[in-house]
Amino acid sequence: MLGLMQNHPLLISSLIEHAARHHGDGQIVSRRVEGDIHRCTWADSARRSKQVANALDALGIAAGSRVGTLAWNGYRHQELYFGVSGSGRVLHTINPRLLPEQIAWIANHAEDEAICFDLTFLPIVKGIHGHCKTVKHWIALCDADKLPADSGVPGLLSYESWIGAQPTEYAWPRLDENAASSMCYTSGTTGNPKAALYSHRSSVLHAFAGSLPDAMNLSASSVILPVVPMFHVNAWGIPYAAALTGCKLVYPGAAMDGKSIHELMESEGVTMAAGVPTVWQMLLNHLSQNKLKFSTLKSTIIGGAACPPAMLNTFENDYGVEVRHAWGMTEMSPLGTVCTLKEKHRSMPEADKNKVRLKQGRAVFGVDMKIVDDQGQERPWDGKSYGDLLVRGPWIIDHYFKIDASPLQDGWFPTGDVATIDPDGYMQITDRSKDVVKSGGEWISSIDIENVAMAHPAVAMAACIGMPHPKWDERPIVVVALKPGAQVGRDELLAFYQGKVAKWQTPDDVVFVESIPLGATGKMLKTKLREQLKDYKLPT
Ligand code: ADP
Repeated sequence: MLGLMQNHPLLISSLIEHAARHHGDGQIVSRRVEGDIHRCTWADSARRSKQVANALDALGIAAGSRVGTLAWNGYRHQELYFGVSGSGRVLHTINPRLLPEQIAWIANHAEDEAICFDLTFLPIVKGIHGHCKTVKHWIALCDADKLPADSGVPGLLSYESWIGAQPTEYAWPRLDENAASSMCYTSGTTGNPKAALYSHRSSVLHAFAGSLPDAMNLSASSVILPVVPMFHVNAWGIPYAAALTGCKLVYPGAAMDGKSIHELMESEGVTMAAGVPTVWQMLLNHLSQNKLKFSTLKSTIIGGAACPPAMLNTFENDYGVEVRHAWGMTEMSPLGTVCTLKEKHRSMPEADKNKVRLKQGRAVFGVDMKIVDDQGQERPWDGKSYGDLLVRGPWIIDHYFKIDASPLQDGWFPTGDVATIDPDGYMQITDRSKDVVKSGGEWISSIDIENVAMAHPAVAMAACIGMPHPKWDERPIVVVALKPGAQVGRDELLAFYQGKVAKWQTPDDVVFVESIPLGATGKMLKTKLREQLKDYKLPT
């Protein structure tokens, strides 16, 4: 017997319609690449998203076709989120920090028909437009008078003149909720990038889950600043979740330095911000150098890489800002786990609470997870046994775009992460399987080694990598970039490990570098580091 309830498809257009109808005067604030601060409302955003939909119709771009973006976080990018997907096309957000040839490869692979880009990226577009075979339209996200006369890109349109002449009414189509809505390529740190193709259904369900109190805790009274880029896993789904809840959104544009972010937080009354640890490190450095505080910020979502304990302690203890450590990946839309405390933790001393908070957290409803050994046998949730982390759920990938072979193992997606899960369901990533240091049959977590170094006051960033060793297979070394003006010697830093990790886990050496190479999503690029250190020899 079937239930007798209405069968409305879960569609991205319904998110923007809801925001416009119930939170029409809710604000969207954007720092623009033009340099100024732009303000509009959810109602404006809905009207302009409809203009985007009409403008796509006018170009004759068919349902299901891909429309690419090379853009920072801002109101125009948001209009494309809703206008492109809402009208039945697929929004393909491209990471502009990739190499130009990778961008062209991705645009060709996705068969993008149009690409909308911020003027900052004109040099990239100039270099690649001749190689993007399927792209018929290049649209610069600016006013007509900002369009350079000699752009070098034939037929270049300005976004404002492209949508400006279009009606602000549009009948959003009643799509199949399983239709593709957007796509994102993995960073491709190993091999060619692969695309996750999200659906309306997966995106709306993910927005529901992401808004929950134990996830991002969004509401109509929140003011949220996504520093995590809209070109990387849909800014962790924040634009959709913000429309669902009607919260105020603050977009940082291209300015992600500590000073710009802090100014925006203070001037707009930001209550919650989301980003990767490297971004928060810049912000915290700026605060401590200038003796500043947060006056409205209540919580930060930190994910994409492990949150170092020193960072968590600074946010929680020095600034009274709650840290919500989160874990996920492109293939998971991205949300998997978020770390918030349970009722049973309330009476714990603060230091013990922070130990829990450092774990990557509990699965949000919708995500099922398990850890398995090399034979695929499930390992216990005792907080000690580690294994390969597998996940499944309605917003987790089934297949990559244009790749027939299934990535799944018995219906579960292998994340490539190694983790423990404790009896309360808190998952902790011990490492990425390819970064684990395998020493004498034992595994050393590169994250643990990095966290110790990062807790030293002189250290700005630390990366642990395994180096080949004739007896032990591999031994860890730690590559360190110091804070400006700070000093610490090799032996002093190695002595700092005493009592913090087992003796055999202590790195064999410290290598000091000017800076640690970062990948396109702001994470440490260990592949590059390994390349840089290819002639390095262990002292032992
Ligand atoms: P890429 O690393 O290729 O850019 P993603 O951006 O999808 O791909 O990153 C997903 C990976 O990032 C996860 O599989 C995990 O290894 C790592 N990651 C994400 N969040 C965390 C976290 N809170 N702690 C540790 N690692 C994390």
